[in-house]
Amino acid sequence: MTDNRRHLPSVDQILQHCSELQATWGHPRVSRLVREELAQYRANMQQGAVANLSRQATIDLIVHAVRKTLLRQDQPSLVPVFNLSGTVLHTNLGRAILPEAAIDAINTVASAASNLEFDLCSGKRGDRNTHIESLLCELSGAEAVTVVNNNAAAVLLVLNTLANNGEVPVSRGELVEIGGAFRIPDVMARAPCQLVEVGATNRTHLKDYETAINERTALLMKVHTSNFYIQGFTKSVSESDLAALAEKHSIPFVIDLGSGNLVDMTQFGLASEPTVKQALEHGADLVTFSGDKLLGGPQCGVVAGRKELIDQIKANPLKRALRVDKLTIAALTEVLKLYRNPDRLIAELPTLNYLNRRAEDIESQAHRLLESWQAALTSTFTCSIEQCESQVGSGALPSSTLPSFALCTRASSDNDINRLVTAARNLAKPVIGRLNDGCFSLDLRCLDDEATFRAQLPQLALALQQQKLTHGNP
Ligand SMILES: *Cc1c(COP(=O)(O)O)cnc(C)c1O
Repeated sequence: MTDNRRHLPSVDQILQHCSELQATWGHPRVSRLVREELAQYRANMQQGAVANLSRQATIDLIVHAVRKTLLRQDQPSLVPVFNLSGTVLHTNLGRAILPEAAIDAINTVASAASNLEFDLCSGKRGDRNTHIESLLCELSGAEAVTVVNNNAAAVLLVLNTLANNGEVPVSRGELVEIGGAFRIPDVMARAPCQLVEVGATNRTHLKDYETAINERTALLMKVHTSNFYIQGFTKSVSESDLAALAEKHSIPFVIDLGSGNLVDMTQFGLASEPTVKQALEHGADLVTFSGDKLLGGPQCGVVAGRKELIDQIKANPLKRALRVDKLTIAALTEVLKLYRNPDRLIAELPTLNYLNRRAEDIESQAHRLLESWQAALTSTFTCSIEQCESQVGSGALPSSTLPSFALCTRASSDNDINRLVTAARNLAKPVIGRLNDGCFSLDLRCLDDEATFRAQLPQLALALQQQKLTHGNP
């Protein structure tokens, strides 16, 4: 042992072999890691856990370990994955995928100074909203709009501006929790305004709202139930009836649309949903909706409606805290521009493209992939093509699904299928599917990068073999 320690190189000696690493990663970080690696090596040596190496071999070993750590630490945590979960707009998987035009626009605006809040006509300070306002008004029929960080922010801002310390009647059937801690009652408490629950879970009548209205009532609000639906003996009050009631009492009528589609969704075989334009035509004074749900754009929230109310919202100091950045504005502009041309919209907007994919096309894709998938997995696994139903996701159209096809994989033991799920998740571009009753299913509706999926199959095969060696049955 004493022999060994005499051979131990010093930090400086090791650093002399790290000039290339230091050029890339900098002296402080490299020398800190060298110190850590050396300390670890010394500790291992004291426990007799390392072989007797020459000084040069020890240096090589430590430099190699430092390089590996640096590379690992530089891997981004946020990476692209294959969303084969069967949910097109999956909140945990980043929701909408941007069209190319939007990505180009982000690049352009990110790499130079811009007139974000500078009026090029007058040479004076401008408003970042102006870049999207006219497009959004054109597409929604609204008098005015403003855009914030997400729809949760839009709802909070509307309530804080128009209902601060007032009462807001909402149907008991609409007190929705969206997930990720967005709950209408909680948002109202923070606005702060007082939620007045009206009606019953399954049935709410106009008279329920009428009796709830008093001099403290700030506005009437309708919330899209988004991720659930009630079936059976139900009744809710129409948007136009609520609009008329609000007008009679001179208070605003606000609809939180959630997804806020700009086009008719029945063309994709989905349930009919009022568009933003229709909601405003039904008499809503304001509507709020997300940018990255059915709209298919970047994360943001839109408030659209009457100019006088939008002006009040813009003047709220909270608006400053919730505003969107220039990258979002650039991307949203390009996404909205696609909506001007219905002929190109579906082809160019990924979200609508996925929703529009025909089951037959997805089935052919499954047939193209089945053999290679089965070959990579070996005979431990049984693969087949099965019909499935894709969901829109993100609380849009919960009751309506789209017929699709999945690559389904089963194994004789849970252990094997779990190994597969893990191996798929640990690929360079992770493959995320759904595990149900021992069946790992990959809904191919959102698989557009088939080449990369295929190119990773040898890595998947290798990972499964290695797992078997380390954890498999003896
Ligand atoms: C999704 C949703 C929200 C929250 O929108 P984010 O953009 O996720 O903040 C709010 N209200 C309804 C009804 C929703 O469906």
